[in-house]
Amino acid sequence: MDLTPTDLLDLGAGRALAVISHDAGGSAVPVVTDHDGWRRATAGDGVAEALITLLTATEGRSERGRFTVISWIAGQQPHGERPITVDQTNESVIVGDAAVVKWSTHLEPGPHPAVPRLSALTAAGFPAMPPPWGLVTWRPDAGAETLVATVTGYLPGAVDGWTWAVDLFVAGARTDDATDVAAACATVGAAVGDLHLALAATATTSTADDARRWREGAFETLRTATLLADNTGAAVLAEYGTEVTALLERIGDLVGVPIFDAHGDLHVGQVLRSAGQRFVITDFDGNPVLPPWQRVLPVPAAVDVAGMLQSFAHVAIVAARHHDLDPARLHRIDAAARAAFLDAYTTRLAAAGQQQLFSAGAVPAFRLQQVLREIIYAAKHLPRWMYVPDAALPALLKGDPL
Ligand code: ADP
Ligand code: MG
Repeated sequence: MDLTPTDLLDLGAGRALAVISHDAGGSAVPVVTDHDGWRRATAGDGVAEALITLLTATEGRSERGRFTVISWIAGQQPHGERPITVDQTNESVIVGDAAVVKWSTHLEPGPHPAVPRLSALTAAGFPAMPPPWGLVTWRPDAGAETLVATVTGYLPGAVDGWTWAVDLFVAGARTDDATDVAAACATVGAAVGDLHLALAATATTSTADDARRWREGAFETLRTATLLADNTGAAVLAEYGTEVTALLERIGDLVGVPIFDAHGDLHVGQVLRSAGQRFVITDFDGNPVLPPWQRVLPVPAAVDVAGMLQSFAHVAIVAARHHDLDPARLHRIDAAARAAFLDAYTTRLAAAGQQQLFSAGAVPAFRLQQVLREIIYAAKHLPRWMYVPDAALPALLKGDPL
């Protein structure tokens, strides 16, 4: 199939990165010359390799028409391409077991949160993320710059967060021993603390407009979740209506609190475990349920902390669904995971004298908003996930500690 690109980043030898607009939005895809036109390239066509060649030849930033190439590497040229085949939104290619090139096949309107966040984290030497190699951005005629390709160092044997966490919770509940869970979650808590410290230079203070926007967003989430909930969720929302409203109202009080360029979509699924029990944080694309202009805005640290804590509660629910586990033991594991995460996180901030960055009081409201978002996500995209918010909602509203 011939493609008519909107724009091309020439990578030499008949290879290019193409930006294509179509009815479903835009795509950034690898292409190769074919007869007298361009054809979509796949792993093995050498386009990912050619992009890495360009990165190695680029020092810092380089403008190429509407593309900007940002490089953090020098002198490495891996060879050989194979596709990543796990469930993914975009399209990633592993090059020479050394790097991963992600083509933004689902192009988001800019501005794109990953560009400033990855740049700041790289400048700060933040270690708990896949090694950053480079980025390519593209600026449309009208509108803000967006991300079209991301290159990171390849982490062999990386295990997805939902896999390692469920495995750990199951093993912990079976043996009634929280040691390994607590150790892993403490490592993740310290990494999130370091992440926030590395981004703390962007900190400002929230305004009344910010608080109003968050509060309105939370109540909009509640309205949609109430419409889309199944019978179980709807019954809980009806029974605890007063508590739900009171909790979400607290988001409107977050005026004058520290806000900064946080992760924005943090949960256990964003934490890969790589070789040697190393945990790395991925996906700085911002929260997909927010409109793009809101994804780049600064938020309180409690948004990230709540996202991670609530995901541990969801890990316990998933573990209970698929394994025959003693509920009291599983609850102890779940509580230990959250306590270890929070303790390591706050210890990290305190050690750097930055404890004021995190207001713990906002966590319950953001945890509730996260559960409501899971209801919407399940209803719209993954009905078999609904048992998770259905179980999480009453637990949270009945006063799940933390
Ligand atoms: P998408 O936006 O397409 O979902 P992700 O960044 O989530 O892309 O990556 C998709 C998958 O690729 C991840 O779930 C992970 O399994 C794998 N992956 C991503 N980056 C790396 C890396 N640096 N090393 C090893 N595997 C990776
Ligand atoms: Mg992903």
